[in-house]
Amino acid sequence: MDRPDIAVIGAGIGGLTLGLALRRHGIRARIYEQAPELGEVGAAVALAANGTRILRELGLGSALEATSAVPTELVYRHWSDARRVAAHPVGRWYEDRFGAPFWGVHRAHLQRALSQAWGTGDLHLGKELVSLRREGDTSALTFADGSTATAGLVVGADGIRSRVRGAITDAAPVYSGTSGFRGLVTRDAVPDLPDPDAVQFWMGPDAHLLHYATGEFINFLAVVEGPDRWEAPGGVAPAPDGTLAGIFRDWHPAIRTMVGAVPQGPRWGLFALPPLDRWSADGVVLLGDAAHAMLPHHGQGANQTIEDAAVLAGCLHRCDDVQVALRHYERLRRCRTRQVQRSSWVTSPLLHLPDGDAAANRDRRLHHLVDDFSWIHAYEPLLPA
Ligand code: FAD
Repeated sequence: MDRPDIAVIGAGIGGLTLGLALRRHGIRARIYEQAPELGEVGAAVALAANGTRILRELGLGSALEATSAVPTELVYRHWSDARRVAAHPVGRWYEDRFGAPFWGVHRAHLQRALSQAWGTGDLHLGKELVSLRREGDTSALTFADGSTATAGLVVGADGIRSRVRGAITDAAPVYSGTSGFRGLVTRDAVPDLPDPDAVQFWMGPDAHLLHYATGEFINFLAVVEGPDRWEAPGGVAPAPDGTLAGIFRDWHPAIRTMVGAVPQGPRWGLFALPPLDRWSADGVVLLGDAAHAMLPHHGQGANQTIEDAAVLAGCLHRCDDVQVALRHYERLRRCRTRQVQRSSWVTSPLLHLPDGDAAANRDRRLHHLVDDFSWIHAYEPLLPA
């Protein structure tokens, strides 16, 4: 059977990684991205061994290593007295155990490494997909600028609010009842932060704050309970000055300094997709957040997306029949991503417990964390024989 002509919608982490993985197998794809240029605003991303293993295989190892920070430890701390509740080594120990490194990387650097590796050919910017119609063996794509294209296989790598997903299911993201604030501070701005080179979770009543270093910066994500309902369209809402500082006003001084070192940023509603019954239909398939957007508490959204890309490219390479390839891909990916989604969802309230017995129980369990979650980090993409 002839290989289909592939159009990937979205040039985020998933779309570009898929393009590179397909190219490695000698399969050509065109990528359509709504943004007029590629770039990622603010913040960082933590890449775990299950993601870095694949990025290295795609030839991005040295570019990313040069701009990433390798954390020394994973530390859980008490919100007000800064006590180390649990700690696990990362660095060399982690790489020896899981066979690939853990990197904290600025999103702009990751995006740049991926897009430089892809190049400008077969990348169509300023192309917002507005409709997708299946006609026989091809899909007709229409973009907001009035241009059109056709493709035998359309890959929806267009994120949590995917338009491509509508061709497969009506499922929509569900608000978690929690929201987040992101920030990047220079190391100088937080001189009293203990263990600034560690990945650290500070856990307190109704909130937690995660931070890790990315070169000269410390990236943080502060997650809080509420608001009860999310009204703003698109998942991001402006927040009045002083919102973040007000929420953390009783926390340890190092945390007060950190959140006070950035201008008040917007509030991000944290959404996840319910597990989808199917990821593909009629020459259309989903990948990344479009298929399985998850809460960020395992730092796995991008890593699972990178896994998807490696597996989808491998299935298309190994199976001449596209429908068979897509069935293999779904079978290999749906169960795993569902487990990570579920685990991320139930982790959120555990990080927000008030002091007391439940928090003490959680703290005891955190000592076994590396063994409990090695199934996430040790993963190597499986492919059909
Ligand atoms: P995206 O990165 O969203 O890319 C989708 C692309 O599609 C975009 O470029 C968009 O412009 C384009 N697009 C959308 N619609 C259209 C259209 N109609 N036509 C054309 N193009 C379109 N993950 C981790 O692994 N580690 C972390 O530490 C981490 N931290 C996070 C912190 C927060 C606060 C959040 C919210 C998420 C975090 N994630 C993390 C998750 C991670 O960012 C996502 O899972 C990942 O970016 C998904 O990649 P993607 O390619 O599927 O989607």
